[in-house]
Amino acid sequence: MNLARVAQILGMTESRLQGLQETIIRESAWPEPRLLRFEKEASGVEAGTVVFENGDIAFGYPKIRRPLFLAPAIERHFSKAVAVEEKMNGHNVRILSVSSEMVALTRGGFICPYSTEVARRLVPEEIFLKQPSLILCGEMVGPENPYVAKEVYPTDSIDFYLFDVAEKNRKKTLGVHKTHELAERFGLKATAFLGQFQKDGAAEKIRQIVVRLGRQGREGVVLKDPENQVPPIKYTSSATNCSDIAVGFQYYNDYATDFFLSRVVREGFQSVEWNESEEERRKRAQRIGESILLPMIETIESKRAGEIQNLQTARDFEYHLRRSGIRAIFDPPMPDDEGYRIGITKLVMSTNDKTQALLDGEMW
Ligand code: ATP
Ligand code: MG
Repeated sequence: MNLARVAQILGMTESRLQGLQETIIRESAWPEPRLLRFEKEASGVEAGTVVFENGDIAFGYPKIRRPLFLAPAIERHFSKAVAVEEKMNGHNVRILSVSSEMVALTRGGFICPYSTEVARRLVPEEIFLKQPSLILCGEMVGPENPYVAKEVYPTDSIDFYLFDVAEKNRKKTLGVHKTHELAERFGLKATAFLGQFQKDGAAEKIRQIVVRLGRQGREGVVLKDPENQVPPIKYTSSATNCSDIAVGFQYYNDYATDFFLSRVVREGFQSVEWNESEEERRKRAQRIGESILLPMIETIESKRAGEIQNLQTARDFEYHLRRSGIRAIFDPPMPDDEGYRIGITKLVMSTNDKTQALLDGEMW
C-alpha cells in the first residue's frame, strides 16, 4: 500500500497517518479483501472510513445532525429550498466493488457477510461495470434485518434503499438529485422523495409529512439541500421516539440514560413547536408514559414468571456480530421453502441479570 498516496487522499500527512495506525486504525482481514478501518473520527476523517488493500478508499458515511426545533433550524441551516426524503429505519451500508467483487460495508467499516450477500442479490453488477468507482450508500430494511428488524416496509424479508451516492477516494457525496437519477437509471429502489419546499413554510409542510409517517409507523425525514451545499439534517416522528423508548425500557439496564433523556426531550420540543392543544399534550404524555412503563413491566413480570429473555453466512454473521460487541444466540437452521431460516436472539444480559437481582430484593 502506498502510504503517501493514502495520506494525501485522506487529507493528512504521512506521519500523522502512521501515528494513527498505532491508535485508532484497525486492521480487518476477514471477510476478504483485507482492509484498514478508522475506528473513530480523526483529522476530519469520518469513523468507518476504510482503506482496502488494493488502495481503494471508502470514506465513512457522515453523521447527520438533529434539530429539536425544526422551523428555526431550517431557516438557519438551508439557503433557499429543502428537499425532504423519508428516513428509513434499518442499517446503513456502503456497497462498492473492490477488485471486481461487490462488498457491503457497515457504518463502522466492517465488511458484513450478511449485507454483502444481500447486496449481491439485489444490486445489479452492471452498475459497477459501468461505474467502478461508485459507492452506493443506503439503508437495508425489513423484518429479516438482523440489526434492526422492522415490519413497516414493503418487503417480507430485507430490501435495499439507496439514499446517497459517493465515489471511491472522494469525501463528498453526490447529493439528493443525482442519487435519485442514478437509482432510476439502474432500477434501484431509493428512499422516498417527499417533496421540495422553499424555506418559508417548509416546517409546516414537514410537520404534516412527519405526522403522516408516524401514523404509518415510519421513522421520520432527512432534510437535504437540493444543491448539496450543506449537510443533511434529520427529524423523527413521535411514534419512533416512543417505540425507541419502549425498546429501551424493555432492556432498561442496557441502555444509557442519555438514550431516554434525549428522546423525551425531543417530544417536549415537538409538542411546543407544534402548538399542541391540551388534549394533544395529554395524549402525547400518555404515549410516552406507556412506552416507558408497559415494556418495563413486561420485562419484570416475565423474569418473575421464570421465562428466559433470550434471542456458512449465518456462522460468519455470528462471528461478525460477536466482533461488533453484540451477543446473540443462533438457533439451529430450519429448512423452509426458500432455503434455511435461522432465528437470532440478541442477548441483553445486563437487564436480565439486574431484573433477577432486583426481584431477589437487591438494592438499585
Ligand atoms: P448519526 O448519523 O448521527 O451517526 P445514527 O447512527 O444514530 O446517526 P440515525 O439516527 O439512524 O443513525 O440517522 C442517520 C442514519 O439514517 C444514516 O446514517 C442512514 O443510515 C439513515 N438514513 C435512513 N434514511 C436516510 C435518508 N433518506 N437519507 C440519509 N440517511 C438516511
Ligand atoms: Mg437509523
